[in-house]
Amino acid sequence: MDNTIGFEIKHLYEELSPLIERFTRKLCPECRQPCCKQRFGIYEKEDILFLNSINAKISDANRRFDPDGKCQFLSSRGCIRPRWLRPYRCTWFFCTELLEAMQTHSRQYRRIVDLLNRIKQLRMELLGLK
Ligand code: SF4
Ligand code: SF4
Repeated sequence: MDNTIGFEIKHLYEELSPLIERFTRKLCPECRQPCCKQRFGIYEKEDILFLNSINAKISDANRRFDPDGKCQFLSSRGCIRPRWLRPYRCTWFFCTELLEAMQTHSRQYRRIVDLLNRIKQLRMELLGLK
């Protein structure tokens, strides 16, 4: 399998992650209702296809844990999975507070949106949906 697209997606995640973390670092540790539930840490088949394309070692979330409990990958310093190793949905959720914080930094916000769109586009290509 040609893994060029998969590795390009991974590089884009690596550029994107610190841009988002600049905001989550401040907001999330004080959040009263963290969004990271166990059920969100479980891979979809599309996530597995992407990760297989870059030969990543996959360790899925435990389906026997309470799906509405805190995700097993959430530590006091945030998610312990690198962003490219998280389910796709994890990067696409922005609560209102986070979104508003990002939008106050318009140049950085535009770069985040561009990277998200590029990842989405390449993922569709990888999955043969485009
Ligand atoms: S992204 Fe929003 S809802 Fe999720 S933990 Fe951070 S502040 Fe809370
Ligand atoms: S970002 Fe990490 S901790 Fe949060 S739901 Fe996804 S895998 Fe779990």
